[in-house]
Amino acid sequence: MAELIFNLSKEGKCAFSLPESQVPSYEFDNKYTRMEDAQLPEVSEVDVIRHFTNISRHNYGVDQGFYPLGSCTMKYNPKLNEDVAKLQGFTALHPYQPEYQVQGALKAAYDLQQYLCEITGMSGATLQPAAGAHGEMTGIMIIKAYHQGRKDYKRTKMIVPDSAHGTNPASAATAGYDIVQVKSDDKGLVDIEALSSIMDEETAGLMLTNPNTLGLFESNIKKIAKIVHDMGGLLYYDGANLNAIMGIARPFDMGFDVVHLNLHKTMSTPHGGGGPGSGPVCVRKDLIKYLPKPVISKNNDGYFLDYDRKESIGRVRAFYGNYLVYIRALTYILTMGPEGLKKASETAVLNANYIMAGVKDNFMIPYDRFCMHEFVLSGSNQKDNYGVSTLDMAKRLLDYGYHPPTIYFPMIVHEGMMIEPTETESKETLDEFIQVMNKIAKEAEEDADLLHNSPHTTYVRRLDEVAAARNPVLRWEKD
Ligand SMILES: *Cc1c(COP(=O)(O)O)cnc(C)c1O
Repeated sequence: MAELIFNLSKEGKCAFSLPESQVPSYEFDNKYTRMEDAQLPEVSEVDVIRHFTNISRHNYGVDQGFYPLGSCTMKYNPKLNEDVAKLQGFTALHPYQPEYQVQGALKAAYDLQQYLCEITGMSGATLQPAAGAHGEMTGIMIIKAYHQGRKDYKRTKMIVPDSAHGTNPASAATAGYDIVQVKSDDKGLVDIEALSSIMDEETAGLMLTNPNTLGLFESNIKKIAKIVHDMGGLLYYDGANLNAIMGIARPFDMGFDVVHLNLHKTMSTPHGGGGPGSGPVCVRKDLIKYLPKPVISKNNDGYFLDYDRKESIGRVRAFYGNYLVYIRALTYILTMGPEGLKKASETAVLNANYIMAGVKDNFMIPYDRFCMHEFVLSGSNQKDNYGVSTLDMAKRLLDYGYHPPTIYFPMIVHEGMMIEPTETESKETLDEFIQVMNKIAKEAEEDADLLHNSPHTTYVRRLDEVAAARNPVLRWEKD
C-alpha cells in the first residue's frame, strides 16, 4: 500500500516557503478563527509530489489506455478544451459579479445553449443541472409542470423500459411519479403492444434512451411517440450518450419533447472520478416557460440572467451550474464543427460494429444486428460451459492493461458485457482489443482458474465491491 501521507510526517518539515509579509498583520476576532491547529502532515515538497504521483499511478484513465466502458462514453478529451477552460477570464469569475462585467462569460453559456438546441432540434435550454441524473429530474419536473399547467392533475405514472439506466426510474420517483415498467421485445426494443396497453391518461410520459442501452436504435420511435402523445403524455429523451446520433438525427424530429445531455460524456469533460459534470436540459418551444430560472437570455442591451419567469420550476442548482464544463463543451463543438460532430458519431458506430464483428465467433451476441455506438455481448457460453463468469473475464482484461467494460448491465442480458469503444480509438487499438478478447475466450476454455483468480498484475486484486458501496470509508481518521 502507498504510505498515508500522514505517516510521512516529520516535525518541522515544510513544503513551502513564503517571503516575509510586507503588509501589517491583522488579528481576526476569535469567533472567526479556529481554536486548535489543523492536524496537517508536515512534509517536504518532494514528499508531496512523490506521494500524489505514486497514488495517481494506481489509477487508470483514458489517457493511459483503452477504456471501453459501455454507456459511459470514455473518449479521449482533447487537451485544447482544457486549455480554453483554464483561461483566467473563465476561472477567475465570481458568481456575484454584475452582468455587465461578465458579458463574455454569459455569451459563451448562451452560445452553448443555442448549439445544444441545434444539435437536439429543441427550442430552449438550461445548463444548470450538474449531471445526467440531475438533468433527468429537472426534465421530469418540467413535464410535471406542463401537466399541472393544464390543470391535469390525474397523471401519477411514468413509464420506463426494462433496459433503462437505473437513474431513469430513480429520477422519476424523486419527482414524485410511480414507475411503470415496459418490457423489451425479442429484438431488444420497446415492446409496442405492451406500451399501448399500459399507456393511459394517468401516465405523464415515457422516458426513453435512443439508441437504448443495448446499443440499438428504437426504429419504432415515431410509433412510440404517437402512442404517448395520443394519450396526452410527453416523451423524455435520455441523451446521456449522444455519441451515436450527433449531427445525424435529432431527438425533436423523433418526437421527443424534453431531453437531457451529458456534457461529461459526449462533449469532452473527463469523468469517472466523481468530478464535475453537466446535464443540460433542452425542451420544445411551449415548455421553455417552465425551465429553471434564471434563464441565460439576450436582448438589445446584451446578455442577462432572466429571473422574471413566473411559471419556472425554480432553481435546481446553486449559481449557474458547472461553468467550466460548459467551456469545454463549447470548445469541443466549435472545434469539431457540424461535419466533425457527424463524423465522430459515424466513427463511434463503426468502431462498435468492428469490435462486435471481431469477437462474434467466441461470444454470444444476444441481439445480433448492427449496433450503434455500443453493443452488449453475453458471456453465457463461457459461464455455462466452463464456469467462467463475465466478472472473471472483465477482471482478466485488467491483466492485459484495459479498463474493463460495463458488466451485468442492462440487466435483461444474462452475463452481459457492454462495450463502447468511442470514436477516438484507432484501428490498431481495436484490433489489439479484439485479439485479447478472443484470447480470453480461449483461456476460459483451457484454464478457468487463471480467470477465476484474475487480476494478477494490478495493485490490488479483487475488491469487496459490495462492502465498498455499503460502507464507504471516504475520510482519513487518525487512529
Ligand atoms: C450515465 C448515464 C446516465 C446518468 O448520468 P450521470 O451523469 O451519471 O448522472 C443516465 N442515463 C444513461 C443512459 C447514462 O449512460
